[in-house]
Amino acid sequence: MGLKELRNAEHLSASSINDYIDCGLLYKFGRIDKIPAEFKPDALEFGSAIHLALADFHMEKMRGSYLSVKQLHECFETHWRKLTDGRDDIKYAEGNDPEILLLKGQELLTAYYNKAPWKEYECIGIEEPFSFYVKGCPLPIIGAIDLIEKDDSGTIIISDFKTSARSYSNDEVTRNFQLVLYQMAMKEKGYSNSDILLRFDCLIKTKQPKFESYYTIRDEIDEIRARKKIVTVSKGIARGIFLPNDSAYNFKCKGCSFKKNCDAWFLEEVA
Ligand code: SF4
Repeated sequence: MGLKELRNAEHLSASSINDYIDCGLLYKFGRIDKIPAEFKPDALEFGSAIHLALADFHMEKMRGSYLSVKQLHECFETHWRKLTDGRDDIKYAEGNDPEILLLKGQELLTAYYNKAPWKEYECIGIEEPFSFYVKGCPLPIIGAIDLIEKDDSGTIIISDFKTSARSYSNDEVTRNFQLVLYQMAMKEKGYSNSDILLRFDCLIKTKQPKFESYYTIRDEIDEIRARKKIVTVSKGIARGIFLPNDSAYNFKCKGCSFKKNCDAWFLEEVA
């Protein structure tokens, strides 16, 4: 089953669990009440177009041929135009417009093409969907892994593509929840006896676009902690507990696409 079909049924995912933890109210508006977002941030569509172009690139490699950097640019342009042409619900950050972002995307992909280790390993999966259960959580955990590779010794390398405004810190890599979930998914898929390496492939939108790979691993304790988190989140959702987090530390408030609903919610009479 593809990710689209998996999404049709009730589920949890790395992003929904992160949303719930960052702000329960944000989770409720988007995923329980299914309120249409006020806007789509340009970064979201930009990231989608990069993902789709890289999926094309690796798919071609898996078929046995390499796309040139020019062809990679063309893939990006096709996806970008398809995602953005005629849309008036995309909110462009100051200084951005579709043409500027088209060029930025192509520059980032050049950096990826020149620096990413895409020639080093055998590609065994692209946009690989998964669904698995954790004991104590009635909902399946679903997602899709951007890229799965294997090296000569049989080690599995799971990669997630990121577009980011800056380099990642060590903490952001070693404590990331999404990667442990991907490791658990791969084990469910029959790779429980394999060595697994995890990697962020980061396309960094600095003035001079650059690419960085960050490798990391997760152990049994990380998986136990992730399971506990999943079960606790699922209990909170089942009990209808959706705490707002409008603290200064919640970076999601700034670009929140449910701001009006949030303001209205805070002004509602307490029942
Ligand atoms: S504005 Fe902040 S507190 Fe309100 S829903 Fe969005 S993330 Fe949550």
